[in-house]
Amino acid sequence: MSNSFRFYNSLTRKVDEFVPNEEGKVSMYTCGPTVYHYAHIGNIRTYIMQDVLVKALEYAGYDVKRVMNITDVGHLSSDADTGEDKMLAGAKREHKSVMEIARFYTDAFFKDFAAVGNKKPDVIEPATNCIPEFIHMVQVLLEKGYAYQAGGNVYFDTSKLDDYYVFSSAIEKEELQIGVRDDVEEDSNKRNKTDFVLWFTKSKFEDQALKWDSPWGVGYPGWHIECSCISMKHLGERLDIHCGGVDNMFPHHTNEIAQSESYLGHKWCNYWFHSNHLNDRAGKMSKSKGAVLTVSVLQEKGYDPLVYRFFCLQSHYRKPLEFSFDVLDSNVGTFNKLVKRVAELKADGAVDEKVKKEFEDKFRAAISDDLNTSMAITVLYDALKADTNDATKLALVESFDKVLSLDLIGHATSLSEETEVDPELLEYINQQIEKRAEAKKAKDFATADAIRNELLSRGVEIKDTREGVKWQLV
Ligand SMILES: [Zn+2]
Repeated sequence: MSNSFRFYNSLTRKVDEFVPNEEGKVSMYTCGPTVYHYAHIGNIRTYIMQDVLVKALEYAGYDVKRVMNITDVGHLSSDADTGEDKMLAGAKREHKSVMEIARFYTDAFFKDFAAVGNKKPDVIEPATNCIPEFIHMVQVLLEKGYAYQAGGNVYFDTSKLDDYYVFSSAIEKEELQIGVRDDVEEDSNKRNKTDFVLWFTKSKFEDQALKWDSPWGVGYPGWHIECSCISMKHLGERLDIHCGGVDNMFPHHTNEIAQSESYLGHKWCNYWFHSNHLNDRAGKMSKSKGAVLTVSVLQEKGYDPLVYRFFCLQSHYRKPLEFSFDVLDSNVGTFNKLVKRVAELKADGAVDEKVKKEFEDKFRAAISDDLNTSMAITVLYDALKADTNDATKLALVESFDKVLSLDLIGHATSLSEETEVDPELLEYINQQIEKRAEAKKAKDFATADAIRNELLSRGVEIKDTREGVKWQLV
């Protein structure tokens, strides 16, 4: 283990030195998606920054085990247990079953998750897999007097805690106490406004598709209980890092802490990592209005998903980030220039281990300092400019990309192939691309497709991108 690793801990409201429960090991839990709709690029920003956290910890020498849940039951449209069931709303919207919706959006989520260079968590657990664990925790909370039954549901009694508002300085208390949208009716079964549902049996959703037997009747779990149980199931009673977006701080994470520590009788998680919103010009990105801007949509528009990652890495995870296509376009240019510089490096000579270590130390220092990703990218540029041989530079690009995950070597290799191919073939490819463009212009899509397929049969794959037609050997 080398150096120190620090990041902003929402629990202490300062940048803390990271000290895990077990030396050299990190247990990390991430709130996963509610799979009723697509994850927009703002959600994906959160997962990119968490991926950087995992990889930065690994770069610093830690062994990280990461668990993520999939919320496929129990999440209502207001995070404070009121409104409509999100999964049910998704199923109705698309005239499908809840399980079909869950499967479809889980697959869509992980496709986008992987496309931006994220490593899959070690454990991915759908909530519907863990019903016995939820029931057990609710039972213990009832036995210990932290929960009560009312109107058929089981609630957590927040008045039993001395310190319920753990993240209170980040959010106004008054705001917390409202906790529900104005247009949503209040649940009269609650003893205190901030109490939350652990288990639903009586709800207004008579056609709730997923129900299970429980000591309190047939029903389904509340959303918050999922994360506490799934985390403990795989990572034990003491968690090092819990991640999520700032939106999750209240009520979700506050409730997770309340029920987990009441259940355990001791502190649960030492570090809380929250990343900030992605905004567009109209304000915070959301899926409530109109079409959802996803990574797949960016791809359909011809953008490389790793350019989106590159864009995210240049800003600090604790600051809101504003997205626009203009900014993304300028990132395309910067990214391509970076790839070009990497492509120009020739892997000759021996790696200068001393220089390599110097730069790796600088990079590690940046990334270990509250995930200073923009500084880490500056170190990458400095390394490319450094007075050392190409072999050392290439080794550094490879090393830094373990955290940045921009596939710089892969992109550079494709670029070199484009320029190093046999001149005759190159001419032919360019001719065919031009013919195809003419065919497309004349709306002769059959010819355009035939040209594409013919090139593919020669091992040349063409792609329409924002920067025009690109091709690669396959
Ligand atoms: Zn959660």
